[in-house]
Amino acid sequence: MIAITILKNLRAPPLMNLVFANRKLSFYDTSSTPKTKEDNAKLHREQEQRNAEDVLFDMFASEETGLISMGKFLAGLKTTGIRRNDPRVRELMDNLKKVHKLNNYETGSSAETQHLNRETFKAVVAPNIVLIAKAFRQQFVIPDFTSFVKDIEDIYNRCKTNTLGKLADYIPQLARYNPDSWGLSICTIDGQRFSIGDVDVPFTLQSCSKPLTYAIALEKLGPKVVHSYVGQEPSGRNFNELVLDQNKKPHNPMINAGAILTCSLMNALVKPDMTSAEIFDYTMSWFKRLSGGEYIGFNNAVFLSEREAADRNYALGFYMRENKCFPKRTNLKEVMDFYFQCCSMETNCEAMSVIAASLANGGICPTTEEKVFRPEVIRDVLSIMHSCGTYDYSGQFAFKVGLPAKSGVSGGMMLVIPNVMGIFAWSPPLDHLGNTVRGLQFCEELVSMFNFHRYDNLKHLSNKKDPRKHRYETKGLSIVNLLFSAASGDVTALRRHRLSGMDITLADYDGRTALHLAASEGHLECVKFLLEQCHVPHNPKDRWGNLPVDEAENFGHCHVVEFLRSWAEKADQSSEECKPEAVTSKTQADEVSSSSNSSSSPGSSPGSSPGSSPCASLTTGDLLGHNSRNLYEMLKLNSNFTFQEICSTSDLETSPTTSPIPTPVESGSRAGSGRSSPVPSDAGSTASAGSSIDDKTKPGL
Ligand code: GLU
Repeated sequence: MIAITILKNLRAPPLMNLVFANRKLSFYDTSSTPKTKEDNAKLHREQEQRNAEDVLFDMFASEETGLISMGKFLAGLKTTGIRRNDPRVRELMDNLKKVHKLNNYETGSSAETQHLNRETFKAVVAPNIVLIAKAFRQQFVIPDFTSFVKDIEDIYNRCKTNTLGKLADYIPQLARYNPDSWGLSICTIDGQRFSIGDVDVPFTLQSCSKPLTYAIALEKLGPKVVHSYVGQEPSGRNFNELVLDQNKKPHNPMINAGAILTCSLMNALVKPDMTSAEIFDYTMSWFKRLSGGEYIGFNNAVFLSEREAADRNYALGFYMRENKCFPKRTNLKEVMDFYFQCCSMETNCEAMSVIAASLANGGICPTTEEKVFRPEVIRDVLSIMHSCGTYDYSGQFAFKVGLPAKSGVSGGMMLVIPNVMGIFAWSPPLDHLGNTVRGLQFCEELVSMFNFHRYDNLKHLSNKKDPRKHRYETKGLSIVNLLFSAASGDVTALRRHRLSGMDITLADYDGRTALHLAASEGHLECVKFLLEQCHVPHNPKDRWGNLPVDEAENFGHCHVVEFLRSWAEKADQSSEECKPEAVTSKTQADEVSSSSNSSSSPGSSPGSSPGSSPCASLTTGDLLGHNSRNLYEMLKLNSNFTFQEICSTSDLETSPTTSPIPTPVESGSRAGSGRSSPVPSDAGSTASAGSSIDDKTKPGL
């Protein structure tokens, strides 16, 4: 029975040819030779895409059955922040359903947990492969989303225990909220999603609608027109205070007076010909587009209550009318109703996080990729949110959190981290200034953990985390620098690398070390420095099995060949006498004493270096054997793969569902390999993985 199932899966369903007919053509039709540059580029892209699909399959497939578990694959995708209901993987999910149907709804599995063979898998993922490959390559703005989410959960849980604050009670619907409600949703500019707590519970937008109507007005009228009616200054007064600025304008669009005025611009200038009902629909459709089609509704009970309890807002309206703040043709009653309607639109944390992310993303919704607003509009909206978004706390918020935000009386807090992510926190209890207590605590804790404050320094060391940074970024760049220094014969730079504590034995994805490059370029001084001072192994093999001496020979650098040969001979001699010893990293002082001993022979200081301890025969080539296969696969997946990602990647067998690219520590260590190592003990934690090429491991991304 099992055998039958497997056979069935191994065969591509016959109808796949139909379903994916176009794709099949582009796969196998090689008869027409590309004529233009564009054709070539397209072909190249297709080639890469095909490779990506194969690599993904190899990464998740079972070696026993030769099939991929889609459940495992989708779980892996989720750890990168991409959900199954993301519109950008809709085709993948649809294809899964089609295949499941073609397989007669095979018992024991659902569309999302079925097992597929290679060809079927490739066809299924093909339409969304660009996004999927990007996800597994950790090329999103938060590369290690899993770790980031763990930290967020910790903050969320700390805020949960905060029971301070009081519910708004000016209308009964708000007073009835559960004070324990606490939801938090995150959406990055790459559409990575995370939600925790009461994220589906509906609540009304209230003041969180203000930046959105302001954005529509800016988009349609431009800042000049809008700001001829409303100012840009924090009022320094209560959000609904009966006050105008010195130009007889409301202070800014984030307070009630300013938002009522924005509503009047919508009615009188943006859509003067629309009825009230049409303007409501029109506005709602903007909100909906910003949220990527997620939940935006309307709460009529709240609307009616708002209108009922609106003495102050009406007073503001009349006061502004008296001061000729509104554009001509303004119908105040309609404007007030429209304002209450905007406050009464209903949503949830999930949808609002996408809206916040669209603001973080310059007006483009990350999940649908629709360009909703122009980036200039968003810049203006965020500027005002930054200075005026959290009532009378705005100054302190700008100081402590340093990010644009907008809070509302229903307990919402929309936080925007420009070019990174949008966050929405919802918890009804408010502090005395009207901000959600838990939401505020979350924002403040967030920026004390991560360097998201606008004026946090991103370059120099700080005690904050930067989740935007790739774990391998620094190391990768260092390797590039190291190899470049060796290739260009820059001994001073090599010395600097060594003094900075860098592992000089590191290799690139072809297994080429600094010694290979120095030898192939004929830089004898560098070769000497690397062997005598840095004690790197003299015989690392690159991916093709070449030693540094082979390189020197190939390029006719006789003096280097001579030196390397005599070094190897001495190393061989001393290897017979030497016992394996622990090798420690050398310090600057070691270097000085070692050079003052002028032991330019490999056997002169046994036990302390690769040169002096050559009995340890693990070469960089060996170290990279299995690893370079993974790295090679990564390259196949994407020629644009950044060097730093490539340099530090190792075995992906380590649960692909947690992080597709494990840290060097996660990967195999040489401890226990039974071989003593001539390289400093930390070397294995980087380029080396310590497994042999025969290891049954999956190629990595
Ligand atoms: N509907 C509320 C009002 O206008 C909104 C208040 C708020 O969220 O700040 O009074």
